Amino acid sequence: PVRVRFAPSPTGMFHVGGARSALYNWAVARQSGGTFVLRIEDTDAARNKPEWIDGIVSALAAIGIHAEDPAFEGPYFQSRNADRHREAAQQLFAAGRAYYCDCTRERLKERTGSEHLGYDGFCRDRELAYEEGRALRFRTPDEGETVVVDLVRGKPAFPNGTIEDFVIARGDGSPVFLLANVVDDLDEGITRVIRGEEHLSNTPKQQLLWEALGARPPVWAHLPVIVNEKRQKLSKRRDKVALEDYLAEGFLPDALVNYLMLLGWGPGEDREILPYEELERLFRIEDVNTAPAFFDVKKLTAFNGDYIRALSAEEFVAACAPWLVAPKAPWPAEAFDQAVFEAAAPLAQTRLALLSEITAYVDFLFLDEPVEDEASWNKAMKPGAGDILTDTRAELANVEGWTAEELKAVLLAVGERHGLKLGKAQAPVRVAVTGRTVGLPLFESMELLGRERVLARLDAAAE
Ligand code: GLU
Repeated sequence: PVRVRFAPSPTGMFHVGGARSALYNWAVARQSGGTFVLRIEDTDAARNKPEWIDGIVSALAAIGIHAEDPAFEGPYFQSRNADRHREAAQQLFAAGRAYYCDCTRERLKERTGSEHLGYDGFCRDRELAYEEGRALRFRTPDEGETVVVDLVRGKPAFPNGTIEDFVIARGDGSPVFLLANVVDDLDEGITRVIRGEEHLSNTPKQQLLWEALGARPPVWAHLPVIVNEKRQKLSKRRDKVALEDYLAEGFLPDALVNYLMLLGWGPGEDREILPYEELERLFRIEDVNTAPAFFDVKKLTAFNGDYIRALSAEEFVAACAPWLVAPKAPWPAEAFDQAVFEAAAPLAQTRLALLSEITAYVDFLFLDEPVEDEASWNKAMKPGAGDILTDTRAELANVEGWTAEELKAVLLAVGERHGLKLGKAQAPVRVAVTGRTVGLPLFESMELLGRERVLARLDAAAE
């Protein structure tokens, strides 16, 4: 059975690139009735924080990778396997596959004349024993080549002569990441390693370690880098990369999952918007591209709008809930009215691209006075607007019913008297009532707001 793993280092917020790797691993595991192992690579104690570990587990759950699922195993913690990493280093030393080295960086540079040539093998046959400060180096073969089987990249071959004798344990005896990563994969029975392209250059070294430890290496798959609109690798300093930030902004998890699955792969036939189950069924790791994948926030936002429109009315109301209370909501808690919101929600649902936009659409219903938006005001309150407001106010005070239909009839009549089409006539009324030039349909909005408050707002605006 296929055993894959997702092996994040808890050194920061959960990166969208990590989310993509996790989703591809998850799809591969579930397609074949295999297992997805979560391993937290937490050996860099100085940079790890416990909250980031919790963040990984909750971010995975948010994109549908649940620890309760039968395909899920772990989490395991790399830091708890330190003894095994040391044991493996000693096994390689005892077998003559690794040797101690006391060369300093300076001496190596003196010999090779450069800092970039890699290790020259000076200590290979000196048969040094361990002493504090001596690193353990893996003896790489001189002849032949290491061929890596990569489901995305084919079979890249690395001439062994170009692979330096690399360090596997530091001068203090502690194994390095490269070795710990291999030993954990080996102990956890991993059969496929699916991870970001930045690890490709480590792969021949890691494959040599697998072989030297007497095990059959996994099949690899290196996923293309993710770039921004300037074709730069997505980075946390430059770009918004934290999955949590996207969720907090009102991207729906399903939309994110769908979009992330398409970063380097597609189901073909121009299909893009598909439920996860379908994407999982169609996904083929062999079809992942090598070309950089563009993380297109505009496209993700458009996806999100589609996903929002596809929600049922109840789902939409539930999804909005976090934005309807402090600190996200700009109105006081006691001013909020769930029934009024539920009446307005279907009008908003067709217009949102992000859930966070909901407050601007409905705030006029729950704020004492509409927001003051100068740009809207200047645009709508042209000469003559005052007359329209007073005229409308007078008519509305007397209109019999208070339905959207009747309100529209009033505005049509007022417009006609002023020689204006409905659109022009309603512009100042809209800004007076809602504060903005764009928003929900005006007459439904007025109906929801009620006569009293509409009249008061028209009075205030006409002053
Ligand atoms: N901990 C490594 C990282 O977060 C993962 C290495 C791997 O997937 O092999 O980059």
